[in-house]
Amino acid sequence: MSKKADAVIIGCGIIGNCIAFELAKKGFKTLSVDRNGDSGAGSTAGSCAIVRAHYSTLEGVAFAWEGFGIWQNWEEYCEVQDDWGMAKYRQCGSVMVKSRDRNWKKILEHWDTVGVPYENWDADTMTERLPILSKTEFWPPSRPEADEDFFGEKEAVLEGALYCPSAGYMSDPKLSTHNVQVAAEARGAEFIFNAEVVEIIREDNQVTGVKLKDGTVIETGIVVNVAGPHSSIINNMAGVEEKNNIKTRAERHEVAYVPSPAGFDFEAGGVQISDGDNGIYMRPEVGNNILVGSEDPRCDTHQWVEDPDEFNRNTTDAQWTAQIYRAARRLPDLGIPNMHKGFAELYDVSSDWLPIYDKSDLGGFYMACGSSGNQYKNAPVAGMMMSELIEQCEKEGLNHDKYPLQFTLPTTGVTLDMGAFSRNRELNPNSTYSVIG
Ligand SMILES: Cc1cc2nc3c(=O)[nH]c(=O)nc-3n(C[C@H](O)[C@H](O)[C@H](O)COP(=O)(O)OP(=O)(O)OC[C@H]3O[C@@H](n4cnc5c(N)ncnc54)[C@H](O)[C@@H]3O)c2cc1C
Repeated sequence: MSKKADAVIIGCGIIGNCIAFELAKKGFKTLSVDRNGDSGAGSTAGSCAIVRAHYSTLEGVAFAWEGFGIWQNWEEYCEVQDDWGMAKYRQCGSVMVKSRDRNWKKILEHWDTVGVPYENWDADTMTERLPILSKTEFWPPSRPEADEDFFGEKEAVLEGALYCPSAGYMSDPKLSTHNVQVAAEARGAEFIFNAEVVEIIREDNQVTGVKLKDGTVIETGIVVNVAGPHSSIINNMAGVEEKNNIKTRAERHEVAYVPSPAGFDFEAGGVQISDGDNGIYMRPEVGNNILVGSEDPRCDTHQWVEDPDEFNRNTTDAQWTAQIYRAARRLPDLGIPNMHKGFAELYDVSSDWLPIYDKSDLGGFYMACGSSGNQYKNAPVAGMMMSELIEQCEKEGLNHDKYPLQFTLPTTGVTLDMGAFSRNRELNPNSTYSVIG
């Protein structure tokens, strides 16, 4: 069997679907394929879907801030209603602790440049505004089983925190991805599921199609790799992995759940907390729970995964305990349950923890990968930027490697030099080399 499309998008996660939606809006006949049975069933399903603006680079801040307006007006962005329901933006605000690993003064400069509203709190203001938080400094992040002084009294006090009232999270990342599928379909995009790409067909250094596991060939001159933690496998299929200066690989990441401190409704009154001083992030979760992830401090060993189809999806006792005990230092009234609840998913991590949004050395083959655990919030804007790149290269003959696309963000008006997301950039020294980006 054979099919034809202007562009094949490999991967129906949040980023893949946003690219399909934007390409369809530009008139491309797109075909999205996913080996899973449904949209958003890959790593997007495990996303904490936090929407925050504290990134270490100006591009990162501008990119994220542009997305805020889309998440806040989700139904308007999607243009149509999904019969499955629409995901909701929960605007709880974010608190970024002024930790020693975070150049918070630089972040404030970026926020001022881009126009992100914020409040700059000292430690007393932080605890006045959020009495459930401790203002103690615990630096450096450590693990209870390895640090003899983990539970010891600490005298130092934090410098304070940055509060961003517009930040929040999406109620259901998988549903939001289905919402975008429905939006793209309304614009003419096609989707096929349970369809695994096993070959990128090439002729004279140009993509000519993809082959699926069941033998179906899809003829196309454009392929976009948005395969999440499987991105390096697809790049290898296309023969471009070795040529890219920036590589991608899968990293296992645990997310732990814990009930809110007794007497406090974290679901209604909690915020998203980025606590670099403790190496964790937290956000409210349904059922008055708190979701706790690691910000990848040095004490937490990276769990690189060779085969993204083979990894432990459950939390481990040691990592669950490390994350929850660190959370309990910042939230002293937190109770520690006996039952460990949580899960593990994969990040698609790039060499410098910043994404690749780029063409490749193979004609017609594009990459939106290396999302490094922090690109859910950027997906709609990435969709706009990637579709513009594809249109400019394929229809206008842009030499993007020589003259990188300058993409002006429609709302904020900030112009992003897409060279910052190049596969061949030098490792960015301003990155935190962590999920914080
Ligand atoms: C635990 C966790 C927490 C996170 N928290 C946040 C957060 O709070 N905020 C934030 O902004 N970001 C967060 N992220 C990151 C964010 O979720 C990801 O950047 C984003 O979901 C990636 O979307 P994607 O579309 O690129 O990939 P995915 O959702 O992984 O989609 C890739 C798809 O490709 C398909 N695929 C792979 N190989 C093939 C093949 N050969 N043929 C066909 N299909 C294929 C897969 O089945 C999959 O559905 C988190 C990620 C994780 C894992």
